[in-house]
Amino acid sequence: MRGIKESPWIIHYDASSCNGCDIETLACLTPLYDVERLGVINTGNPKHADIFLVTGAVNQQSAPVIRNIYHQLPEPKVVVAVGICAASGGIFRECYNVSGGVDTVIPVDVYVPGCAARPEAIIDGVVKALTVLEQKHRAMKAMANSLDQTLYLRADKSDAPEILALQKIAYQSEAELYGDDSLPVMHQTLQELENDFERAFERVAALADSQGTAADHRQEADRIVFLKAVVNGKIIGSVRGFALGETAYLRRLIVHPYFRRRGIGRRLLKEIENAFPDARRFEAKTGHQSKRNLYQLAKGGYEVFRTEPFTPNINWVYLQKDRSPAPAETKGVK
Ligand code: SF4
Repeated sequence: MRGIKESPWIIHYDASSCNGCDIETLACLTPLYDVERLGVINTGNPKHADIFLVTGAVNQQSAPVIRNIYHQLPEPKVVVAVGICAASGGIFRECYNVSGGVDTVIPVDVYVPGCAARPEAIIDGVVKALTVLEQKHRAMKAMANSLDQTLYLRADKSDAPEILALQKIAYQSEAELYGDDSLPVMHQTLQELENDFERAFERVAALADSQGTAADHRQEADRIVFLKAVVNGKIIGSVRGFALGETAYLRRLIVHPYFRRRGIGRRLLKEIENAFPDARRFEAKTGHQSKRNLYQLAKGGYEVFRTEPFTPNINWVYLQKDRSPAPAETKGVK
């Protein structure tokens, strides 16, 4: 963290500013203010940046770009909204295509006031951002040290925003692997994910015998499971699954990149299997180049049984596993 604090890298994006705040931001780099002498670097690559600095109000065209850049920054990261437009939409707030400030699409940590924001205020905002960055870094470190206290719980619709944010961070490495930022999972909206919770229940309810009792329906609905791995109150992993007949289908096993290779994914896989005690078979799928997923599933006892093209770059690999017979059933078997 000391290195980052002494030389933070910034990525600047103009969401739809009048250019006033951009000129002031660039003025910070010119010889008069020269923030580079303090170690602050303006980079063009979000994967190298610690601080996301946004100017201008958010409109329909800039919103997806802001989201995309934000999710490419490694954790921990800080967002600085520069100028009143980035803070609230400013004078463009009432425009038909403007949704408001940056916090309408991503969480903002520091607001720099002004129209246009003065270079001194922008530099002050970056200094404040570094304090926030340090706090986030400490929090993540504390979480990493508490992984042995991770709770594996059922998730519900109220967890959708956190799971969605995690999903976009977790799938970033997959998007990079396949050189494809258009993966549907990366562009899922909160509404769509909330619908996943709803629709899943609707679908199961539809499968349930309409003559059945409310308890029967509830029992059926219990066959759709969203799990979350929680440490210090934050979701760091998730998986979902549903049962049809004797097969449980497992989907979207995700772990925050900061906490990978520490057994969270393996435990989530085990927990989701345990959530389907009646399933005789489990089925999962992953991309053909996703070696880590394939390795993890193979270690969990899964075997490849089919592949299928998904996009020109990606083939789905389907894996399956039969449930090990219960100890009572194996009694007497040599
Ligand atoms: S805050 Fe003022 S200077 Fe900055 S983008 Fe908005 S209108 Fe332009």
